[in-house]
Amino acid sequence: MREGMKNTICLAAAVILILLNAYSAAGADNWVCPACNTECTGNFCANDGTARPEEVGGVWNCPECGAVCDGILCAYAGTAHPVDSENG
Ligand SMILES: [Zn+2]
Ligand SMILES: [Zn+2]
Repeated sequence: MREGMKNTICLAAAVILILLNAYSAAGADNWVCPACNTECTGNFCANDGTARPEEVGGVWNCPECGAVCDGILCAYAGTAHPVDSENG
């Protein structure tokens, strides 16, 4: 009598797929590279490979000087977003 459980798992998988598709569609808009001011459409700048700012995810604290940053680099120390090294 575990049929109900199986259906729940299938439903969860379907919801995850729908969410993934929604994320892909949302990433289709243009953005301007903060490093070279080139207008880009993908997740990385075609000119210098800079990651799309939205991809790094909102506001972060610079480990170098403690400043609150919202770009890919700290405006004060020039430190790269900590997440960048983890993504490899
Ligand atoms: Zn660029
Ligand atoms: Zn800093």
